[in-house]
Formats: sequence, structure tokens, C-alpha cells
Amino acid sequence: MSQQDFIAASCADDYDPNSMPVDKARHFIRTYLEPVKVQENLHLRATLGRILAQDILSPCNVPNHDNSAMDGYALNGDDLPAEGAVTLKVVGTAFAGKAFDGQVGRGESIRIMTGAVMPDRTDTVVIQEHVQLDGDRITFGLSTRRGQNRRLAGEDLKLGQVVLPAGHLVRPADLGLIASLGIGEVKVYRKLRVAFFSTGDELASIGQPLETGQVYDSNRYTLYGMLTRLGVEILDMGVVRDDPALLESALTEASQSADVVITSGGVSVGEADYMKELLNKLGQVVFWKIAMKPGRPLAYGKIGNAHYFGLPGNPVSVMVTFYQFVRDAMLMLMGQANPQPVPLLPATCTGEIRKAPGRTEFQRGVLTLDSDGAWTVHPTRNQGSGVLRSMSEANCFIVLSESCGNVAKGETVQVQIMDSFV
Ligand code: AMP
Ligand code: MG
Repeated sequence: MSQQDFIAASCADDYDPNSMPVDKARHFIRTYLEPVKVQENLHLRATLGRILAQDILSPCNVPNHDNSAMDGYALNGDDLPAEGAVTLKVVGTAFAGKAFDGQVGRGESIRIMTGAVMPDRTDTVVIQEHVQLDGDRITFGLSTRRGQNRRLAGEDLKLGQVVLPAGHLVRPADLGLIASLGIGEVKVYRKLRVAFFSTGDELASIGQPLETGQVYDSNRYTLYGMLTRLGVEILDMGVVRDDPALLESALTEASQSADVVITSGGVSVGEADYMKELLNKLGQVVFWKIAMKPGRPLAYGKIGNAHYFGLPGNPVSVMVTFYQFVRDAMLMLMGQANPQPVPLLPATCTGEIRKAPGRTEFQRGVLTLDSDGAWTVHPTRNQGSGVLRSMSEANCFIVLSESCGNVAKGETVQVQIMDSFV
């Protein structure tokens, strides 16, 4: 990235540098992301949460053979009754894992269990509930069509088919899917390494007594949680005082040992000039006032080869900016080709919200299903950007767009469910 790009992003004419729209900032960040390239072969289970570095191709048909979807009787569709009922002889049994390998002639059927291979020349299963059994004879009526209750070979996956593409994030269903192909080792991208520290003279660490004016450092804990869920390797560098020499050495060390450096605090007005000088000396960083609440100040750039995110200090702002900017960027750096945005879903707002147009707001809300089966959302009580309880109580963000003004009780708003961030 060139110095010019960064100067342009800080003060281009086509937008107010004092207020950077959320989407533009996101787009700018995207332009500079260079995903990790190093790959490693891992045992299937260890790939959970990692990004595939190879297409997974099906080495076989799944299922391998036509098989029964139900417990019942396998027969040839020619023996189904055209009208009334028909009686067939039962000449054998097919179990899952133990096929019937004899011949099935006209007027004959085979007792078959779910998952058992369809015997030769049978194509239909009449379920056991639809037959009357009398010794070795079954009688049934018009209950069944030809081909019914039979799973076809390759119905789930065909030989050679791309089952999962490179760039896909491995979820529990994918582990099972890959296992169903008999594949036990998978090529994924290496883990992203993320270093982070908190800045502020007022911060105390757990275990220290709290002096007047001090607060316990909570940002490193929320960051720990959010980063752990993303499945990255973490380097927690503790609290760094607001001292240029200490900050410089911490930033340098972090950028040399990690792919991504995240700091909290020190980028708001007043403090920014000071960090600005330091960061411009060490790398190329833009300082934005994002048109959003909470999370107005945000810094982004590169220090050496490391991507840098300077998050605001306020505990709620840290989480909101992480979810809105850092999460996506990290997934891309991890190798995910095109992370899908967290869905926005409509819900009825049960409270009034005061909001001025001109910035995107991420209010914290509690989404519940009311007795009529409709989703309603209630904003948490205190929406202050320092009130972490609002995040803890919430299960969703109420996302109010830049153009939106006050919201009346009963209006429809858009929400983002927090669990989907995982
Ligand atoms: P700053 O962005 O550094 O001006 O900080 C904004 C507010 O967030 C101040 O009230 C800080 O005390 C608070 N703050 C900053 N860092 C942390 C932290 N790591 N944990 C809890 N609160 C913090
Ligand atoms: Mg500070």
C-alpha cells in the first residue's frame, strides 16, 4: 500500500474526513488484506474452524449403492399391484452392512432394513407398516409407487464432485461430510497470529488493587473471547502505559511476532495526535472518525507486514468495531474467500429509540419471540459506550442505518443476532 493511498483515505475530497461511512471504511480495509498463504495438513478433527486450502473432491459416490430408506420389503416395481392388493413371497433378508446377494424373481420380495443395499433387480421398498405378514407371504395394496423408499447411489455426493471449495470455513457439518468421504487428512491455511494490548494509564490488571480513578482492563478479556472464537493464535501483551517509548516498543514487538496487531484505547481525539505520530513513524496508518455509534474513532493500517487495528478504548466500542470491521478482515486474512455478512433480520421494536440521522448506530437489544410468534426486540437500558453490561445482556445488535432517525415503539428495525458472529 502506498503512502498516497493512506493520505487519500484520510482526507480525500469525496467524503468528509471527519466522518467516514461504515461501508467505505470496510471497503478500504478490504483492499489491503493479504491472506495467509502457508498451508498445513491436519487430521480432520483439527480442521474445525480453519479455512480449507484445497477443494474437497468426492472420491466415491455417497451413498455407494442404492439402499433402502426404510424398514420394509424390497421388490421389483413390476410386482406392485395395478389395483387391489398383491401377495408376494419373502425369500430372504437384507441388513445394513449385510447384503442379500441371491436372486429375487417375479412374485418375490426381500425383508430389508434401513440402509441395506437394494438386492439385484429390486427398485422399490414397501414399508413394513403397509404390509400384512402371514408366514413367508406379504400382502399389500396401492400404498407405494415404483422407486419409493429407495436412496440412489450418488444421491448425496457424486464421484469427483467438488464437495467443499477451497476458502471454505470448516464447521461441524463439514467434519461429518468430509468423514463420510473417508478422508482423514485435510489441507488448511495456517492459523492467523494476533497480538493485542490495551493502552491507558488508568488501567489496572486483575489482581492489582484499584486506585482512585483506575478501571480494570476488560478489553483484553473481550478481545480474548472474540479472537478465541475466531480460532486464531493469540498473543496477549498486557497493558501498556500511555508512554511513547513503551508504546513504540510494544507496537514494534507485536508487529514482528504477529500477522495482526490490535490495540484498544488511545485513538480518540486528544490522544490520537500522539498515537498518530508514533504509528506514522512505525508504519502507515489512517485515523478515522467513523460515522457510527458506538465506535467513532478507529485506526487502520500496516506496521511492517502486520495489519493494524487501533480500536477505541470504550469497552462496548471495542466489541462493536471488532464485529463490524475486524471480524470480516480476519476471516479474509485467514483465507476465507468472501465472508458473508452477518444477516440483518426484521423485528418489531418494543421501545422508543432516539437517533439523529448521519451515522450508523449499533444499539444493543434483546430479541425475543412473543406469544403471537413474532420476533420483537427491546433495546437494553443503558446504551452508553462504556456500559459493558448492555453487551452482556444483549443477544443482538439493533442496526440503525445512517439515514434513519428516531424510531417509534412498534416500528420494524433490523437486528443482527450476536451468536451468528461466532
Ligand atoms: P480512550 O479511547 O483511551 O480515550 O478510552 C476511552 C474510555 O475507555 C476511557 O474511559 C477508558 O478508561 C476506557 N478504557 C480504555 N481502555 C480500557 C480497557 N482496556 N478496559 C476498560 N476500559 C478501558
Ligand atoms: Mg486511553
